[in-house]
Amino acid sequence: MRITDIGLEVRRFRFEEPMKVAFATITDMPVCIVKIDTDEGITGYGEAAPLAFVTGDNLETVLSVGAELRQALLGLDPRAIGTIHRVMDGLYHGNTAIKAGIDIACYDIAARAAGAPLYRHLGGDDPHVHSDVTIGIDTPERMAEKAKEWVAKDFEILKVKLGEDIRTDAERIRAIREAVGGSVRLRIDANQGWTVKETLRICPELDRWGVDLVEQPVPHWDFDGLREIRERSGLLIAADESCHDMHDAMRLASMRAVDVINIKLMKSSGIYGALKIAAVCEAAGLRCMIGCMGESTLGNLAGMHLAAALDVIQEVDLDAVYILKQEEVYGGYDHRGGRAVLWETPGIGCSVREPADAAASEAH
Ligand SMILES: [Mg+2]
Repeated sequence: MRITDIGLEVRRFRFEEPMKVAFATITDMPVCIVKIDTDEGITGYGEAAPLAFVTGDNLETVLSVGAELRQALLGLDPRAIGTIHRVMDGLYHGNTAIKAGIDIACYDIAARAAGAPLYRHLGGDDPHVHSDVTIGIDTPERMAEKAKEWVAKDFEILKVKLGEDIRTDAERIRAIREAVGGSVRLRIDANQGWTVKETLRICPELDRWGVDLVEQPVPHWDFDGLREIRERSGLLIAADESCHDMHDAMRLASMRAVDVINIKLMKSSGIYGALKIAAVCEAAGLRCMIGCMGESTLGNLAGMHLAAALDVIQEVDLDAVYILKQEEVYGGYDHRGGRAVLWETPGIGCSVREPADAAASEAH
């Protein structure tokens, strides 16, 4: 099987409500849908969702680098995923979002060619995936209100964005716990917003309100800080912005700096890199979470398939499907609250509306 074309198309999706995190407020998410055609008539879809302050790339670089990668990849077998990545990495360092988009489309093709849903193609046999949903930074009252709304929609795990002034952050978590009661699981993500001292000061409060995981409290480069927090806080500590690839995972593991690593396909250059991070974590006795940037259903589904396939991925933070306004990519799963069941359709399983269809439906 040979790649005959790689199409790159920009789509712009909006969040239902602006998502405020410690370092930015995100209102919409420009992404690039990657469409790979082959000489055997099988077409695969992937998605590149760059977030410049995490991945260092943006939509312009996705398109320009993507055009060059296209030239280099034409004629290769999309199922030879090691070769695909060697060619991409040989041309460009970083640029992980477009590499992820191409990687996901290649896996989609491989699974379609095998006649299996992607999670089965990756060795899994259970289509259930249980995700949290994220609450952005706001006043304690509004965050508590939002938390109640999600719980009323059957979501059982909430990921709360913090990382501002620790007093207000403690208020936020207290307000949410009081609003939702004891049975809802709470985890927090400070997105690099605190110092080590601040984190150690707020951790007893987080513990008191039953927070079961603290994600990326300090800047991404501060591995020593993560280790100190892990040793002294007694809480489960997760790395997100600190871990992009298997080398980061290996360093974090050997330093015993964290308990959990949050894998994101846009950081790891897709499924191939994610599998390597997962293997390092499994060997080191770390747990994995899988998260997302704000991809559409397509990118999120790729993550769900990986989560369904790997035992070591025990926490799922794939909620863009629930908080992003988009109808161009649809199907592939059913859900109640954060509990999703993947379809048995070959490949990733969703449908992508062509731009002409999308324009037509917008006109109506
Ligand atoms: Mg995070």
